[in-house]
Amino acid sequence: MSVLELKDVNAFYGNSHVLFDLDMVVEQNEVVTLLGRNGAGKTTTLRTITGTIPRREGSITYRGDEIIDESVDGISNAGIKLVPEERRVFPTLTVHENLQVAYDACSSPRPISDMYDVFPKLDELRQNKGRNLSGGEQQMLSVARALVQDPDVLLLDEPTEGLAPVIVSDLKEVLSEVVKEDVTVLLTEQNVEFALDLGERAYIIEKGSNAWEGTVEELREREDLLDEYLSVAAAE
Ligand code: ATP
Repeated sequence: MSVLELKDVNAFYGNSHVLFDLDMVVEQNEVVTLLGRNGAGKTTTLRTITGTIPRREGSITYRGDEIIDESVDGISNAGIKLVPEERRVFPTLTVHENLQVAYDACSSPRPISDMYDVFPKLDELRQNKGRNLSGGEQQMLSVARALVQDPDVLLLDEPTEGLAPVIVSDLKEVLSEVVKEDVTVLLTEQNVEFALDLGERAYIIEKGSNAWEGTVEELREREDLLDEYLSVAAAE
């Protein structure tokens, strides 16, 4: 049984139809990347899975159970956690307090000390306020806040956006470790290099529809796809 399966999924913001009969499968312990240009529908796909979209239709199963009519809280409590693009770190709370809020909101959290083992940098910064963190530190904190809630599936919306290369490399390392701990990851990216390095399979979406799917090895050989749908050169 797949962890997540989307079948003929359509999504709407008011009268605006944004996803068109989207199909997608994510298997246990996979890292699957969703690629596409600005406005292709990547964020909307994640919001459709978490239920934070005004209207969605079709079928989304999570470990075999239909969740298309499930509430946002129901989906989150079932184990699907989203790290949104805008990060939403609480600016006036310290790193530790930010983690505590996530911990307190969850019925079966992981110890906060585990997060300091995974992210030693956050341990150093535990008394610093959210507003004083760099973009990379905020991203680490956002991922840690999701992980403290012991997710089964982690959805990451453009995690490398605005991050310096050295932080991107740290993040890649952390996510590789996360997957070893039985977490399944679906992420959106415009950074193709990151996606090719970290992911195993990829989907390309264009104008809210499936355009291509395959392994990252296949994608690496398909510069034509990268040109056509992503306007970037393939990573070395
Ligand atoms: P980006 O990389 O820019 O975040 P994306 O691939 O994640 O792009 P989405 O944000 O999912 O794309 O947007 C898909 C389409 O939905 C776009 O045409 C966008 O204008 C539209 N859209 C997104 N959010 C809303 C909203 N809240 N209300 C109306 N339309 C929206």
